[in-house]
Amino acid sequence: MVVVVDTVSATPLRPRHPEKVNRPDALSPPKPDWIRVRAPNTRGYADTRRIVKENGLVTVCEEAGCPNIGECWDKKHATFMIMGDTCTRACAFCNVKTGMPGALDASEPEHVAEATFKLGLAHIVITSVDRDDLADGGAAHFAQTIRAIRARCPTTTIEILTPDFLRKDGALEVVVAAKPDVFNHNLETVPSHYLAVRPGARYFHSIRLLQRVKEIDPTIFTKSGIMVGLGEERHEVLQVMDDLRSANVDFLTIGQYLQPTRKHHAVMRYVPPDEFSGYEKLAYAKGFLMVSASPLTRSSHHAGDDFVRLRAARAALSG
Ligand code: SF4
Repeated sequence: MVVVVDTVSATPLRPRHPEKVNRPDALSPPKPDWIRVRAPNTRGYADTRRIVKENGLVTVCEEAGCPNIGECWDKKHATFMIMGDTCTRACAFCNVKTGMPGALDASEPEHVAEATFKLGLAHIVITSVDRDDLADGGAAHFAQTIRAIRARCPTTTIEILTPDFLRKDGALEVVVAAKPDVFNHNLETVPSHYLAVRPGARYFHSIRLLQRVKEIDPTIFTKSGIMVGLGEERHEVLQVMDDLRSANVDFLTIGQYLQPTRKHHAVMRYVPPDEFSGYEKLAYAKGFLMVSASPLTRSSHHAGDDFVRLRAARAALSG
């Protein structure tokens, strides 16, 4: 039996996923050769880590156990996770701690802005835990963080990766009014897997959320992503692409699901690189401005370079 304990924060005896502790172990097949990552031990990595810690910030890179952390942090690319390290949802794929979060830190927007400045980022990605406990789902805090970064780093472009704000009327509008450059909300998986993989979410609500962003402010780029290898069928992935295009989503990411612990959803299959290339070609054919599909693709991986290409693709389209 594996007890899923917290190995990231300073309270190692609290189960990180209390809701998963009594689940049977789910065994994944061994990783194939194409899932290879660099060990996080460079000078750039150490510098990024120091700036993150000095500003008391949480990153999804660490909390989710992202395989790209060695590469990203070496280049000073970190994705900040605001509103704490504890999530009110309990998705079957996610290694972020589950529980009742603490109060919001009113100084966090300034700290995120300061760290963005110190890291010298041309493009920053901000995500958050789900905050179903807050009346606005954390929308005002997101908006304050965007404004603080704009004030401290006026040339930095801002990408947000938000929760779904389910049952939080008016929350989305507050975030969109702060004018992020990219609004990302991940679908994570195909609709038939929502109950098992993303039980607190609703597929069509997430699609509608992305659609609403474009309706309110068509200048904002929209982005969404899924993981594959959770047992989905190919035709379901193609359906997700069509649904996202119906919502006018600009940018699609597709990456391989990796199992954080044996208490999380098993990897059903490692999708080979040529299948990702096939998905990428199809997605472009369906009209996405940008597509990133590879085993190690994550929403925030190479987000800065991708944003430059995204902007160029829109400019080329409008002549
Ligand atoms: S891919 Fe994203 S989450 Fe992973 S290390 Fe890079 S910036 Fe962090």
